Amino acid sequence: MVEINSENQDFSISGSLWDFYIEPNALVIEGAPCTLLPPIPEVELLRAKVVKEMREHYHSLCVSHEGIDAPAESFNRWIMERKVFDTGFEPLLPSKCREDVSPAMFREIIHDIPIRLSKIKNVSDARRDLFQYAEGARKLLERRGVDFESSKIVKWHTDETLKWLRKDQNASLEDYLNQLHRLRRECGPYLTKVSTPSVEDICKKMYYMSQEKSKLILDKHLSILRQCNINLPHPVQPNGNIVSVRPTMLICPSPALGDISVVKEKGIVSLTYHSDMVKLNVIHYQKLESLYRLSCKDDPKMELIHARMWCLLQRYHTFFGPNQYEGIMLHGSLPTAVFKCLNEEFGVSMECFASPLNCYYKHYLSAFADTDSYFGSSGPVMQFFPVQGSFEANPPFCEELMEAMVEHFEKLLAQSNSPLSFIIFIPEWRDPTPLSILRMESSRYKRKQVLIPAFEHQYRSGLQHVTSIAKEVYFKAVHGTMVFFLQNSEGFAKWPPTQDRLRNLFRAFCPDT
Ligand code: SAH
Repeated sequence: MVEINSENQDFSISGSLWDFYIEPNALVIEGAPCTLLPPIPEVELLRAKVVKEMREHYHSLCVSHEGIDAPAESFNRWIMERKVFDTGFEPLLPSKCREDVSPAMFREIIHDIPIRLSKIKNVSDARRDLFQYAEGARKLLERRGVDFESSKIVKWHTDETLKWLRKDQNASLEDYLNQLHRLRRECGPYLTKVSTPSVEDICKKMYYMSQEKSKLILDKHLSILRQCNINLPHPVQPNGNIVSVRPTMLICPSPALGDISVVKEKGIVSLTYHSDMVKLNVIHYQKLESLYRLSCKDDPKMELIHARMWCLLQRYHTFFGPNQYEGIMLHGSLPTAVFKCLNEEFGVSMECFASPLNCYYKHYLSAFADTDSYFGSSGPVMQFFPVQGSFEANPPFCEELMEAMVEHFEKLLAQSNSPLSFIIFIPEWRDPTPLSILRMESSRYKRKQVLIPAFEHQYRSGLQHVTSIAKEVYFKAVHGTMVFFLQNSEGFAKWPPTQDRLRNLFRAFCPDT
């Protein structure tokens, strides 16, 4: 179990949560020099403010258009899904996408119409949901006015359900669930049809708001850089050389970033810019310090480290969302014993989905190249083109990103004759099975697929960097985890998933409590 011990000097290079002695073994096609603008606290504050406004606006649109709360985490997933297709300049918010309607946002709102179903635990939950669904469906059709035929069908099904509810007082949980399933199956397509224009309108409004706010942030960023006489970098074509992997380097220099006050107290470090404070535990503070030392090339005296840490923490805070526990499910990590095993048994030395806060290896890929590259990131997965190496991927639960990941990995595997291997960890979803899983199950590069059963393994919390209680770091997985080995033949020859290795992997996953 994790020991939170700030006295241990070696901890920052190889603690129980990471191992920075491991050298990456990847060769990559060198990308174009990175022209993202350097993070600046003032700009990051503005970004935090506009994202907060956008979250509130999104919620009020869902209430006013559909009479529902904004679906939990759907704003966060919207950002991740948009980033798969976005070619704009803004690092967090969507700013240049071909389509203005996000399929992820659309799907999540539609799913909660006419009501968000609760986690049904007993008969009274089921009875309440069934009643509210039937009432909600009927009212929705009345309000929206649809063609006679659709309205007749929905009315018939909801009336039947309400009649059944009045009559059948002693029904079992299974009966209620069957009724609910049937009602959703029969009415769902009509509810979707009638709600589509208004839900699309929410998606469009959010996208255009995001574009406008991105422009506002960019203007502020540019004006600060201009005041500091920093010229914008010109885009340079990539040379396509094959090189050893290294963290992304921003070509635009940083201006002076302002003072950050740092207070360490009771295992927690607070970093404050003006009156805005961000926090992390001492262990992760040491981790960031060590990543910075290992990766940052433009600040040998470490004068900018605290301002850059502040920007990084503020960015993730903005990304996670304001509510307690929000965002953490999108940032949970594999246990450290699994990373150790993946390195020893399968030569893994990089994570394809990580952040400076949850990475195990010193080089990794992450959502934000601008804030994270000083701390070892080589940028987002879709902009990473390895030709050789062994990688772990534990993507956040965002379907479009997962699909894009599989497509990307398959293309990379098809193009390389050097050993290339991806070991992918994904929750066992079956109702319905996501396309990403279907595609991996039938992939010509799949060498092995195994399932780690629910409750027999654990994950690390996405809040590990703020918690000060060791026990809070790990939690038992309530879902099965599917593990896919996608490898080209050279990768398979070099890192085959043999029975012995898989046994060790299973062992590493088991809770040690
Ligand atoms: N590194 C840990 C935790 C993964 S959680 C592990 O491998 O177990 C998923 C991580 O993916 C989050 O930190 C999230 O910020 C990051 N992420 C989101 N979008 C990404 C993208 N496009 N490219 C790379 N990482 C991304």
